[in-house]
Amino acid sequence: MAEDSNVGMRAITLGAAGGPKWWGRNDVDAGISTAIIVDGRVYLVDLGSGASRQLARAGYGYSDVEAVFITHMHSDHTVDLASMLLFGYSDVGPRQVPVIGPAARGKLPPLTEFANSQPNTVRADEPTPGIAETLKRLEGAYSTDINDRMFDYGSPSPLESFAVTDIALPATVPFDANNNVAPEMEPFVVFEDPRVRVSAILVDHHPTAPAFAFRFDSRYGSIVISGDTGYCENTIRIAEGSDLLFHEAIDLQVMEVRMRHYPDPKRREAIMSHHRRAHTTAEDAGRVAQSAGAKALVLHHLVPADTPLANWQQASNTFDGLVHIAEDLAVFEV
Ligand SMILES: [Zn+2]
Ligand SMILES: [Zn+2]
Repeated sequence: MAEDSNVGMRAITLGAAGGPKWWGRNDVDAGISTAIIVDGRVYLVDLGSGASRQLARAGYGYSDVEAVFITHMHSDHTVDLASMLLFGYSDVGPRQVPVIGPAARGKLPPLTEFANSQPNTVRADEPTPGIAETLKRLEGAYSTDINDRMFDYGSPSPLESFAVTDIALPATVPFDANNNVAPEMEPFVVFEDPRVRVSAILVDHHPTAPAFAFRFDSRYGSIVISGDTGYCENTIRIAEGSDLLFHEAIDLQVMEVRMRHYPDPKRREAIMSHHRRAHTTAEDAGRVAQSAGAKALVLHHLVPADTPLANWQQASNTFDGLVHIAEDLAVFEV
């Protein structure tokens, strides 16, 4: 860490594991979450399993957080939202922390060709909420606790501590949640304060949509977080000339072996088809970094998280710059 942690720009990998599961592995244990620190103030990207506890371990709390960004609505990126809301609000103080993330998907994804039957839709009235509706529902789910505290000792409702915004796409972007999830577009600004400007671009995590990559520009340099995505030209666009590109990575060979025990071969093929389409191999992440002219690449959202390190190093076959493999609570200076 820098000598004076209140000056400069750095990223801390609060969690580097991808996918909806716990790992219990020492170096890659917590779910995906990255803290970007600019002049001592914290900007969080995604809140995977244990993210807020990891934030505390890194020496920060919600009193230090200026804004929270969610790349997409998958649970491995959002499961700690409840923890932020219910345990974090009292640290926020007399202000509101912006929480910025995807708007509602708006329609159900197409049914996989591997399906044997039509599933029963959960919450058929509004089955694909975005970030704002999700936080409202979390508040509702915990209403016994929240009402107890409000009536018993005057706590505010936790949601009052957060200003939640669904990201509105520029009107010219021909986005369609089922047929055009990552059209060619320019990054657009979703947040700005005196320290940092944050821009977003759609990436290809079909059928999860909208899914965003985020770029943080400060006077010290730039950090890009790919979010979950297959190889995508938009990621190259937003990462152009960046100092640090955090890109997700999957090891398809290891996943293939892991899935052999799945009894239903059609389900197995459906899952592998998703992994091939919606995630990026280490070599392809290297290609993205190379095409973008990024100075350094950090692979994170490692799937599976216990893949041998040497497999991830294959990103060096396609990228001339420095390749890092994220571990929990690693610090990367810009
Ligand atoms: Zn994920
Ligand atoms: Zn995802």
